Amino acid sequence: MATVYAYVPSPEHVYPDHPERPGRLDILQTRLDSFGAEKIDSAPATREQTARVHDPKLIKELEEVCKQGPAIIDYAPTFVTQTSFEDALLAAGGVLACAQAVMRGDAKNAFAIVRPPGHHAEPQRAMGFCIFNNIAIAACEALENGLQRVMVIDYDAHHGNGTQAAFLNEKRAGFISTHQWGIYPGTGWIEDAPQAKKRIVNVPLLAGAGDGTYTRVADEIFKPVVESFKPEMIFVSAGFDAHWNDPITTLGLSTSGYYAISKKLVDLAEQYCNGKLVFVLEGGYDPKNVANGAAAVFSALTNSKVGEEANDPSPYPDPDHGSRIFEIRKWHNLP
Ligand SMILES: [Zn+2]
Repeated sequence: MATVYAYVPSPEHVYPDHPERPGRLDILQTRLDSFGAEKIDSAPATREQTARVHDPKLIKELEEVCKQGPAIIDYAPTFVTQTSFEDALLAAGGVLACAQAVMRGDAKNAFAIVRPPGHHAEPQRAMGFCIFNNIAIAACEALENGLQRVMVIDYDAHHGNGTQAAFLNEKRAGFISTHQWGIYPGTGWIEDAPQAKKRIVNVPLLAGAGDGTYTRVADEIFKPVVESFKPEMIFVSAGFDAHWNDPITTLGLSTSGYYAISKKLVDLAEQYCNGKLVFVLEGGYDPKNVANGAAAVFSALTNSKVGEEANDPSPYPDPDHGSRIFEIRKWHNLP
């Protein structure tokens, strides 16, 4: 079975001088044919699918605000244009197409390369460059179509507050987020969801956290949480803004670190979910990092060798996260 991908670049969803721009995907686009994966088509998410996560009133309001033309709708700043409503439904649809292909067994695993991104979008509001929560919409679709438990693992540099909010009272959905502590959106502390221990797991990291820390987090947090929650399918919010030279954050992952953590997720999915795994693009604001990071993800998904470009080690020291990992494991009572 093949690895598949959906590609939704939304060229008209663009705002002057905004970092979440179509050009993020320019280098990646030229390399899409080289990853050994098959492209699949995507249709826009329906209102019904979108309303599994978002308040129908919000959906209606966003449709109206987009009709009126370019606007900034929050302080992040999140922008919309006249095409953004349709673009956002198509981005969610790209993730749905990937999830459906994997669920049906038509594909081994998948990567939805879509924008606008989604993980900050909450049930009641669009925020953080995100309109609809693409990954949560697809995870809910999987639950609607017969799966008992799904899990989202979010390694974007920012906290996936929208996904956390969507899953807060959905006991069939688990969530783990690694993110730089103290940056936008300001949520994602260890104790965020005391009612959902071992199910909603936040891993706030110090600036500079690099390959070594992420490897430890995958082994000492991702693995026991997956083992305990027993998802039947894993979704990954893949943001390439945790790379050490991303222009808007200061974490320390290298491209080979992205490969290592992605490979561990492939192995976890194989061990616990029959390999059912869908990666979804979130942030990442340097086009070269996005292309190299996506290449690393495809190498992990297709079980092929990672390219030479992955050798770009972080020049920053990786702070010792031993006590933080201990604190997180203790809070969730992980074995
Ligand atoms: Zn981000």
